[in-house]
Amino acid sequence: MSEVAIPILMYHSLDDSGSVVSVSPDFFAQQMQRLAERGWRGITLKEAGEIHEAKGHWPEKSVVITFDDGFANVHSQGAAVLKSLGFTATVFLVTGHIDGSNDWASPPPSLGKLPMLSWSQVDQLHGDGHELAPHTVSHPSLLELSEDEVARELLVSCDELSHRFGDKPKSFAYPFGSYNPSIEAATQKKFLYVCTTILRRAQHEPLHALPRVDMYYIRSLDMFDKLIDGTLDSYLTMRRWARKFKSTLTTS
Ligand SMILES: [Zn+2]
Repeated sequence: MSEVAIPILMYHSLDDSGSVVSVSPDFFAQQMQRLAERGWRGITLKEAGEIHEAKGHWPEKSVVITFDDGFANVHSQGAAVLKSLGFTATVFLVTGHIDGSNDWASPPPSLGKLPMLSWSQVDQLHGDGHELAPHTVSHPSLLELSEDEVARELLVSCDELSHRFGDKPKSFAYPFGSYNPSIEAATQKKFLYVCTTILRRAQHEPLHALPRVDMYYIRSLDMFDKLIDGTLDSYLTMRRWARKFKSTLTTS
C-alpha cells in the first residue's frame, strides 16, 4: 500500500480582509513560491486523481490546489502567480453566482460583498489549464434540501460546465463540507473526485471522500513547510478535534 500522502489545499478568497475564508494575496504568492523552490508542483484535483487511478497512489512532491466558490480575486490575484510557476488549480464554482457576487448568504462580517468570477474570467482560467468544477448552483447546505433538490443542484451545475467546456466535470466539493450518506451516494454517481472539509492530508481515503486542509489555519511559512512535509499532521488532528468539539457546543 502506498504511503504517499497528498495535501489538498483549500483556499476561498485571496484578499487582505483577514476573514475566515481569506488568505492574503502576498501570503498565497509566498506559499506557491515556497512549493516551487522546494521542487513541489501545484496541480489540479483531476490530474492528481487520474494519476492515483493509473498508479494506485498519489503523485509524489505534489500538492492539489483548490479554490472554493469562485471569487473574482482568484483570477485577479492568483492566476498570474500560478501561471508564472507552471502550476494549475481546481476552482469549484457556484454556477448560479458566476458574473454575480457572494450573496448566497450573509458573508463573514470582515469580508463583505465581493464579486465572483465572470464567465470570461472562467474561460481564461480554463484556457490556462485550470480545472473548473461545480460547487452547486446556489451554495446551499445540501443537508437542508430534499433529495430532488440535491439532485437538481448537482445536475444543473454539472451540466452548465459540461456545455461550456465540452467535457463532464469529474470533481465536486460540498458547500460547507456538509453531506450525509444519501448525498454522498448522489455525488458519487456523478463525480469521481469529491472533496470534503475534513482536515488532514489525503492518503488512503476513497476518492469520493477526500480530506482537505483549510488554509485559514496555516498562519506562517513555517507551518506551511510542516504541512507539506507531513510534520503538521498531529497539529491538524488537534484542530480537527477542537473544531468538532466547538461545533457540538455551538450546534443548537
Ligand atoms: Zn463554498
